[in-house]
Order: sequence, then C-alpha cells, then structure tokens
Amino acid sequence: MKTFKIGGIHPEENKLSASVAIETLSKLPNRVVIPLSQHIGAPAIPVVEKGDKVKVGTLIARTSGFVSANIHSSVSGTIVKIDDFADAFGIKKQSIEIEVEGDEWEESIDKNAKIDRTFNLSSEKIIEKITEAGIVGLGGATFPTQVKLTPPAGKKADTLIINAVECEPYLTSDHRLMLEKGKEILIGIQLLMKATKVNRVIIGIESNKPDAIELMTTLSSRTMGVEVCPLELKYPQGSEKQLIVATTGRELASGLLPIDVGVIVQNVGTAYAVFEAIVKNKPLIERVVTVTGKSLKQPKNLLVRVGTPIQFVIDSVGGLPADTGKVIAGGPMMGKAVSNLNASVTKGTSGILVMSNKESKREEMENCIRCGKCVEVCCMGLQPYLMMKLAEKSMWKEAEEEAIYDCLECGSCSYICPSHRPLLDYVRYGKSKVMQIRRERSAKK
Ligand code: SF4
Ligand code: SF4
Repeated sequence: MKTFKIGGIHPEENKLSASVAIETLSKLPNRVVIPLSQHIGAPAIPVVEKGDKVKVGTLIARTSGFVSANIHSSVSGTIVKIDDFADAFGIKKQSIEIEVEGDEWEESIDKNAKIDRTFNLSSEKIIEKITEAGIVGLGGATFPTQVKLTPPAGKKADTLIINAVECEPYLTSDHRLMLEKGKEILIGIQLLMKATKVNRVIIGIESNKPDAIELMTTLSSRTMGVEVCPLELKYPQGSEKQLIVATTGRELASGLLPIDVGVIVQNVGTAYAVFEAIVKNKPLIERVVTVTGKSLKQPKNLLVRVGTPIQFVIDSVGGLPADTGKVIAGGPMMGKAVSNLNASVTKGTSGILVMSNKESKREEMENCIRCGKCVEVCCMGLQPYLMMKLAEKSMWKEAEEEAIYDCLECGSCSYICPSHRPLLDYVRYGKSKVMQIRRERSAKK
C-alpha cells in the first residue's frame, strides 16, 4: 500500500465516534457570534448593521480581496452587535453577534434531500458560486477554495487530489461524511473537475476506513478519471506535501506549492460543501464536528451551525466531565488548546476533543539523550532537537539555515521523544520568529 517516504508515526487512533452516524444539532443557542476571519487571508467586511434582520444563509460579510471568503448568517434573527470577540484561543477578532429568532432560511436554498443532477455550469460560473458560498478548505487549513481553483497564469493542474485521509487521532467527521454523503461528494468532485478542467482525480483514504474505501471505490467507478487510492496508515499523511508524494510520487521541494507540481488538493468535506453550494444553493453555514474524548458519555459527529458556542456543543453531548483537563479544537496532534469555551465553532473546527486531567498532563521534561528519534520521525527531514536548542537560545540565523520554516507543526517529534521534550512548542515559536524576520527582510527589498 502507498504512503509517503520520510518519517511519520503511528499514534493511537482512538476513533471513538467512527460508527456514530452524523446527527444534526437541531437545538439552537440564543445567540451566535460569527467571526469575520474564519479563513486564511483578509477578514470579510460586514454588509449588515446592528438591528438588521437576517435569515439562515443571508450574506453578512463580503470578501475583502482575492484571498478572503464571504460569511453568511447561520441562523435567523437580529444583528445585535458588530464588535471584537475573543476566539477559542483568546485572540480578539471582529465578529457579528446575532440574536436567534426562529429558524427561517433564505428561500433560494434548496433544503430538499433529492439530488437534481441537471446542473450545467461553466467552470467560471462554478468558481463564482463557490466564492459566493464562502467555501474554505474544511480539513483545517481554511484556505479560500476559489483561490486554489484559480492557479496563477502559466500554471496548470493535471491532477486533483481529494484529501480523505483524516489521519488525526479521534477525528471521524470526514469518514462519516463519506459513508453518509458519498453520492453528493462524488457530484462535488465532478464539479471541482469541471471548475479546474482536470480529468484525473485521486481520492486518498487511509486503510483504517475500509468501509469508506469500498463505498467510494464503487461510487467513483461510475465517473471516468476518478480513482480511490488506499493508503497505509501513517501520520501526518493528511498534510498536503505528504499526501501528494503518497498518491502521485511527486515531491514538493521547500517553498513550492502543490500547483507547482501540477496538483490541486481539496478536502473531502470541501467537495461536499461544493455540492451543497452549487446543487443546493447553500452557503457554508454549518459543518460536521467530531465531539469526542474518552471521558465523554457519548462521542458524536454533530452537524453544527457556524457561530455556535463551543460550550453549547459540549453541553449537547452531556457537558464537560468533572475531571476535564483540557479542551482541544481539532485533533490531539495539530489541534490547539481552547482557552475560551464561549467562543464559536467556525468553518475550521473539525473537532472538539475533551481530555481528562490525566490525559492532558505533561510528563516532566528530561535531558535530551540524543537518541535521534525526533529526527527519524520528522516527515520534513528536519532536526527537531537542534531547532529546539536554537529557539531556546534565540539563534534565528542558524534556525533559518536549518529550514525551521519548513516545519508542518505536525507534533510527531514531541510525541515520540522519550525525554518528553516540548519540541513542537519551541519549533513553533522559532518558526514564527524566523517567518517574521523573513517577512521584514522581503518588505525592505
Ligand atoms: S513538528 Fe515540525 S519538526 Fe516536529 S516532526 Fe513535525 S515537521 Fe518535524
Ligand atoms: S527524541 Fe528527544 S531525546 Fe531523542 S534526540 Fe530527539 S530531543 Fe533528544
């Protein structure tokens, strides 16, 4: 079975909700707070004012540049505030607060489950509708989808890779989406093929999802050019560089983008969002979130409206257990600790992971024993033990020479270190410093 070549680890899977069907969180909160920057790029600009009435799907903020994304209301009600609100990590972001009144949807959205296949749009029109719907990469990167579908002049893709790897432990929303919305995902893929004028598609799925591999293989056999590529289980295979090597054998050198090797990568959840945008006229106002953890009564895959408070979502699965040590947005490897449970679920929230005190307790750091394990597992061929030292000593020139900026922040080095050294924390800090230095240098040129 295929996989990437350098490094990688096999963390405990803990896919507790893999067999739990997606459930709609139908109870709505009294208020939602919708951030205007839920994507990589420029924040959207509000097009509503305090006191305005909105419906589910009403445009409330518009893109403010090429790399930006539209934002729509996920509820019906009244705009009560446009102000800065702290996000899940305590960072203040301009957001729109809406008081929920009923659940009235824009008439243009087709809520019927029936699939109408009589859509016949040009590639430009598909990209335009994707832009209008505010779709971003749902695998966690949240890059505005229309940007990826519009390569710069002179660059062309010959292959579209659908990222259905979901290699993060605990997360199961993509897996469930494939099992429950396979046909719709295939239509989304066909629309993406038309938008990008690409006639070869590879759907990468790891071998721990045999039911999804089987179903997607059957469904894709009816579409010319689409194939499923079962992948060996290895983290971080869902990262773009690793997935491209695993599925096509094409190597992405430092600083290059997928399009430089003729590839566009889209998450499987994004393909479903594209289906909804084009076929159902539905903007991106909700997403499937894996709400999980060993201490939770019933881990679930919940369809949650964007803007719903994280605390509200946790309450819907029985509330926070008394021994909770940490709540993570995303998976345990690349996710980040939530410091504000009143913050909202956003387009990028793939999971909410509740960890007990025991699970979240860090082991005491010991001296480096020079075992080389962190180097062995680094999928970017870096030397994490050395980069941690350089970051500790603020040796940014040397850290740049060691290509610290190539770090994916996958956390494999910290995971494997027998001395429990917080390698990722230091590498992440060092990377942000070096990136800042590089930005300042290029601004001076
Ligand atoms: S976090 Fe960075 S340095 Fe550590 S293994 Fe991943 S890519 Fe390598
Ligand atoms: S894995 Fe830990 S102990 Fe081993 S070389 Fe790396 S930092 Fe040192």
